[in-house]
Amino acid sequence: MTKLKIEDIPEEGIQIQLLEEEAHLKEMLPQLPHINFSLDKAVRGHLMINKSAKAILIRGRIETELILRCSRCLEDFRFPLDSSCEVTLFPFEDETLPQEEELNTEDLRSSYYYEGEIDLSAIVREQILLDIPYKPLCNPSCKGLCPTCGEDLNRGSCSCKGEVFDERFAPLKGVKIGRGQKGN
Ligand SMILES: [Zn+2]
Ligand SMILES: [Zn+2]
Repeated sequence: MTKLKIEDIPEEGIQIQLLEEEAHLKEMLPQLPHINFSLDKAVRGHLMINKSAKAILIRGRIETELILRCSRCLEDFRFPLDSSCEVTLFPFEDETLPQEEELNTEDLRSSYYYEGEIDLSAIVREQILLDIPYKPLCNPSCKGLCPTCGEDLNRGSCSCKGEVFDERFAPLKGVKIGRGQKGN
């Protein structure tokens, strides 16, 4: 875990090159209930950290590579992550804190730091979680799996094509249809 003491941040700011090994970050990344993912590379962060009164401004980039599972075809695919981050941190013990709603204006992320220390690993972890798509796709045009036989339609059409049962036609089930018996 990479931590930085506020008192160690000089007035002119400090530049930090962060390297988080994937084994370490894996433990820290909670499992997302709806997304299957893993880290495939160490996480590199290039962060500039500045003080402004009690607020700490962190800006920079975070790079790594994730393995995500496609939400349509269920294949794992590589997801290069190159994210720019900008976070403002306020001391948690400060009684004069603005309300949380006021802090989270527009795209500006804000959070707290505790006991005079910034947990840079936590900042990196949060940024990674923010950048994981809600419905990962191996390709925007991924065709997904055949709902009938489970065949990956990206690899070609399956033999049951044309007989896919559609709920909208449920009342017609059992009606004989002359066409389509030979496929295609
Ligand atoms: Zn896919
Ligand atoms: Zn099929």
